[in-house]
Order: sequence, then structure tokens, then C-alpha cells
Amino acid sequence: MSGESGIWFDPGLCLIGGAWVAPKGGEGLDLVNPSDGNRLARIARGGAADIDAAVAAAQAARDGDWGRMTALERGRVLTRIGQLVLERADDLARLEALDVGKPLSQARADAVALARYCELYGGAADKVMGETIPYLDGYTVYTLREPHGVTGHIVPWNYPMQIIGRSVGAALAMGNACVLKPAEEACLTALAFAHIAVEAGLPAGALNVVPGLGAEAGAALSGHPEVEHPSFTGSVATGALVQQAAGRNVVPVTLELGGKSPQLVFEDADLDAALPFLVNAGCQNAGQTCSASSRILVQRGVYDVVRERMAAAYAELTVGPALEDLRVGPLISARQKEIVEGYLARGSDLAVAGQGMIVDHAPEAGAYVRPALFADVPPDHPLAREEIFGPVQVLIPFETEEEAVAIANGTDYGLVASIWSRDGARQMRLARQLHAGQVFINNYGAGGGVELPFGGVGRSGHGREKGFEALYGFSQLKTVAAYHG
Ligand code: NAD
Repeated sequence: MSGESGIWFDPGLCLIGGAWVAPKGGEGLDLVNPSDGNRLARIARGGAADIDAAVAAAQAARDGDWGRMTALERGRVLTRIGQLVLERADDLARLEALDVGKPLSQARADAVALARYCELYGGAADKVMGETIPYLDGYTVYTLREPHGVTGHIVPWNYPMQIIGRSVGAALAMGNACVLKPAEEACLTALAFAHIAVEAGLPAGALNVVPGLGAEAGAALSGHPEVEHPSFTGSVATGALVQQAAGRNVVPVTLELGGKSPQLVFEDADLDAALPFLVNAGCQNAGQTCSASSRILVQRGVYDVVRERMAAAYAELTVGPALEDLRVGPLISARQKEIVEGYLARGSDLAVAGQGMIVDHAPEAGAYVRPALFADVPPDHPLAREEIFGPVQVLIPFETEEEAVAIANGTDYGLVASIWSRDGARQMRLARQLHAGQVFINNYGAGGGVELPFGGVGRSGHGREKGFEALYGFSQLKTVAAYHG
């Protein structure tokens, strides 16, 4: 480990074909620690030439040792990677906390989730089967699940470890060779993961990592004619660019683009159970979570009590440096802070029901904002419709179930929703009516289970990652029809 940063590898390199190499352009980018604004490391500024080399290395792996491995062997390598990740969970958590600004225990949970993805997909690699199809007399028909070939993984800065686990893990399990482009704001754990994967025996070229800017390395990867399946998590605007690029190459794409996810609190809800979820789901990772719950819809009869109790919980929210492991850390960057402050200014016509506190000793140059809860927010207000990606929640009152569903479904997004009610019939009705890829009943997030298929509808994107479903997304079906008479 080197110095206080805990970086045990050279962060300025790309992994291409099993070798750690400098980017061809020779340039670098600064990573900034969002807790104090200081430079944390210098990473590679990979470009189109590096992406070309990474894709060529991936093709060679697909056609070579990696492509020839049995599903069982692939699974064993992934499982070994998972074991090493678990052993290094504390080191990885520290890197993530410094890089992303994520409170240490939340960063550690992400490291454990990364290990869990490797375990899940390691175990699943040899359990994805085709089927035989009863057909005409004289035929035997069966299906084969085959890898796409080279997959591209464009990852954002908010949950690098979890997103790498769910997309790269599933892609490797199915025998794809991956090119990973981590976010320019935070990519230390992506590099650390790659070092661990090499150490665990992943064949050269099965995973290649090229850090760099979105408009350079990211665009080169999503538009590369030899990339057979790009997977993207991030903003709607960039997701649309990735889809256009994939469209030009006529390849499928997975897009996970965030949301404006509601929790619906009915008068018959168990409020004691709901309260911690209502607040946590909005301030975890400083609200920079695609499935953050930024809208709390509350039935009129319990609105005042929920408002008061959430306000009290907000007063307890402390914000400070990631390594101090308070409830909330800094935002990822000064730029993100500016975006969130812009939204807070747009809420100046609204009532602030509750606010958290930044600790006095938080460094001036850190990207800190005070968490804010707005009350009585009209459903058409920008703060109730747009993804803010900061610790900001809005309370919206409603009278009837129909009104609640209309408000919940009234944004462009549809990632996650939750229903707090003891009425079983209502739970079943609403689970069908809510526009979302995941619906939770009397919980929010279900502990983030790696087993649970995840993805959105509407502007939240399409395609599913996590669980077994991701294995189908990262493979394609071939039908074999044999005529034998
Ligand atoms: P972004 O979508 O631009 O970046 C995400 C990833 O895409 C990064 O790796 C980036 O380098 C890459 N990228 C950027 N431009 C690209 C391009 N033209 N082609 C291919 N890849 C490209 O998001 P951002 O700028 O980091 O954040 C902006 C906003 O996006 C945030 O305020 C937030 O609202 C949203 N966001 C959502 C998620 C999510 O998990 N859904 C994650 C990050 C950001």
C-alpha cells in the first residue's frame, strides 16, 4: 500500500490483454478526493486507440484460452475473484470511500456486494441451460446459450463496485470478453478489481480496463464496431448517445439510467417500520443512487406525522468526510454540488421541512451539501419530477389510492417503487399498476439483493441486470434443428 491513500497499484495504467500499460496518448487525469478537494491519484486518459487495443485483446481472449474454458472453469475463476475481493474488502472500501466520498461502511457493503456478485455468477456459470423443443416428426430441436463475444461496460462513479459486479460478473460468467470503461471521477476500485481478477487467474484479455473521459474512451467503446453488447449505467442523455452508437452497429444494449422513485405511504402503514427506509433511501450515498427514493407520497391522514418524524430524522443526519463514516458523505465533485445546489435554489418557493447538518470540521473544499426535505411539493414541480442525484427528498400528500398511483407514475422514469400498507389486496393491485422495474412491499430495496433482477421502464432504461436474468442478457440464444428422419 502506498501512503495514506491506500492505493497498492499504479493507478495511471490500463489493463489490456493481461498487461498493465500506459495509455497511447501518454496523458493522465486527476482523481480528486471529494471529502477534501485534494488530488488523490492520476489515472490514465485512455482514448480511441487504447479502446481499439482493448477490443482486439478481448477478441483474442474470446478466440483463445478464455473462449475455450468450460463453464465450470469460468465459474471457478469468478468464485476465486469473489474470495479475494472478500479478503480485501477493507482495502477496497477505503479506496472507494476516498474516491467516491462514500461513508466507509457503505463502501464496505459495496465491496461485499461485489464479492457476492462474483460468487453468484461463479456458481451460476455452469447452470444456464438450453432446452429441447418438441417439434415435427424426425427432428430434434434444442437451444444453446452462447456469449455475445466482446461486451463493453461503461460504469458511472456512484457505485463502481456494485455495477462492475453485476455487469462484468454476469458477462464473464457467460463467456464474454469484457472491456470496462470506469468513470473519470472514480475508478480506483475498477483498477483494484482488475488486479484482483488477474491475481485470481482470469486469462489475459478476458477483462480489459481503459479509464478515460466519456466523450473519448466512452464514446469509442460504445461505438466500436466489434463490441457486440454495450452495457451502460448513467444519465439519460449519455444513455441515449450510447444507444444511438449501438444502433449504428445493430447490437443490443443495456441501459440503466436512474429514476425518481416513489415510496407510497398509506394510512394503514406500519410507520415505525417505514420511517428508517423513507429517509435512508433518500440519503444513502448522499442521494447519488439510481434507485434513490426521492419522492415520498403520503396519504393525508398520516401526512403530518410522517412529515414531523422525517423532519426529526433529518435533524439527526450528519454530513462529513467519508472516512469518518457519518450518515452522509460529500457529493462526488464540485460539479455535482453545483447541480444539487441549483435544484435547492429552484426549491426556494417550497417549504423546507427538515435539514441535516454538515460537521464543523468538514474541509471547505469538500463537496458537501446539507440534506433537505421539502414538504407539500406539487407533483409537477421540477424537484418532484427531475432526478437530482443529491440528498434531497420531496413530500407529496395524496387522498386516494388512484391519486397516489397517478402521481407515482407521473414522471418520465420507472426504476423502483415501494408500497407501505397492511392491505394485502392493495399491495397486489399496486404492484401491478406501478410503472417500475422493481416494486417493494413494506420495505425498500430488499437489502439490495444481488439475486434480484433490476432495471427500468421508460426513461429509466431497458434490459435487466442482477440475478439470473443478467445471464440471459449477456448471452444469445441459438436454435439447433436436426433432421434425422
Ligand atoms: P454520465 O452518464 O455522463 O457518465 C456515466 C458514464 O458514462 C461515465 O463512465 C462517463 O465517462 C461515460 N460517458 C460520458 N459521456 C459518454 C459518451 N458520450 N459516450 C459513452 N460514454 C460516456 O453521467 P455524469 O456526467 O457522471 O453525471 C451526470 C448526471 O447523470 C448525474 O447528475 C445524475 O443525475 C446522472 N447519473 C446517473 C447514474 C445512475 O446510476 N443512473 C449514475 C451517474 C450519473
